[in-house]
Amino acid sequence: MALIVQKFGGSSVADAESIKRVAKRIVATRKAGNDVVVAVSAMGDTTDELIDLAHEVTPMPDPREMDMLLTTGERISMALLAMAIKSLGVDARSYTGSQAGMITDARHGAARIVDVTPGRVREALDEGAVAIVAGFQGFNRDSRDITTLGRGGSDTTAVALAAALGADVCEIYTDVDGVFTADPRVVPKAHKIDRITSEEMLELAAAGAKVLYIRAVEFARRHGVTIHVRSSFNNSEGTWVVATNEGESMEEPIITGVAGDLSEGKVTVVGVPDVPGKAAEIFTIVAKTGANIDMIVQNVSAAATGRTDISFTLPKSDGEKVLTALRSEQDAVGFTALQYDDQIGKLSVVGAGMRTSAGVSAQLFRSLSDAGINIEMISTSEIRISVVTRADTLREAMQVVHTAFGLDAETEAVVYAGTGR
Ligand code: ADP
Ligand code: ASP
Ligand code: MG
Repeated sequence: MALIVQKFGGSSVADAESIKRVAKRIVATRKAGNDVVVAVSAMGDTTDELIDLAHEVTPMPDPREMDMLLTTGERISMALLAMAIKSLGVDARSYTGSQAGMITDARHGAARIVDVTPGRVREALDEGAVAIVAGFQGFNRDSRDITTLGRGGSDTTAVALAAALGADVCEIYTDVDGVFTADPRVVPKAHKIDRITSEEMLELAAAGAKVLYIRAVEFARRHGVTIHVRSSFNNSEGTWVVATNEGESMEEPIITGVAGDLSEGKVTVVGVPDVPGKAAEIFTIVAKTGANIDMIVQNVSAAATGRTDISFTLPKSDGEKVLTALRSEQDAVGFTALQYDDQIGKLSVVGAGMRTSAGVSAQLFRSLSDAGINIEMISTSEIRISVVTRADTLREAMQVVHTAFGLDAETEAVVYAGTGR
């Protein structure tokens, strides 16, 4: 008898029919003799719709109230799912994040899990029931407030429960057959990856492959949780996220996957005096806003002016506050102007095989140039190369790069549900 944590994403529980279908699957796992804990997301695009609704009420919703609002989405799906399971003759109980012991810090909208005390979940299991836990939410002990873990955070709920309960596997059920070599909605010729190392999965998730939330991958890696990403629409084997891909290195492709990201914007600080300390001043101002900086590029300074431009990318949601902060310190830092560009796209290629292969960058740049796509920024890590392009060329860029690295499948990938929002 195993202990299995199953997570169902929004598109897998989008309506009553889907909830009944998922309930059958959970009941089958229970009846096969396993203990089952379920983490569930809000139905369909509920979270997006609640965010839109809040912005209709006010342009700057209060973060505490925003979390109160968004956590209702998962309460709806958890209760409906528990009802559906009970109606099939298996005992089930739903729990909010705080009832399930998901203790977090106090950061509304981006809380981190600091402790998991799943006493009630364990009790339910001991009594033979299936425990359903609302994904994406927790509770802060100091403020005694409800928090959310950031978009896509139900994956983290599932992995954290799996770690705390010592589960045998954490199954992430979604609307595609597993982790693909690229988002199948963007690159129809993408193919499913059978096994991927957590190192590569982390890079892909960080580069925008939202099939798994980056924090969930980090958590799983740190706590040794085995993740199996698979479709809730069939019984096929999905993708196993493994610690190492030993024994497969002979046939390991150089590139494991391609990811795209349209969520970032680019700030350019124009005419920065080229003297020691200016980069430190600028990024201290940026850091105080709490924004997460991604790529940074500094040009050589023009000899005539002794000034240089510094560009960096950051989540669009942080753009306004960073610009405001920099503007207020313009005289002190002494730069001449600020520019903001929210029409950029970031393409990344990821693969552990890059470590031992030369010429990957050249091949990437060549495939983009053959398609007439201009590269605006470049950054690399040990197993990733990222480039910034125009937002409206990102889709084509992903397709040509996928082809250039020999990743195309013979047949088109199936997307079973969801709006891709
Ligand atoms: P869920 O609602 O189940 O959490 P998400 O929408 O968060 O589902 O994640 C699944 C989606 O992730 C897929 O429908 C797909 O469009 C997208 N995706 C992006 N990159 C990849 C990838 N490399 N492999 C598979 N899916 C991907
Ligand atoms: N419902 C939340 C979201 O849409 C959490 C999740 O689905 O993982 O981001
Ligand atoms: Mg998700």
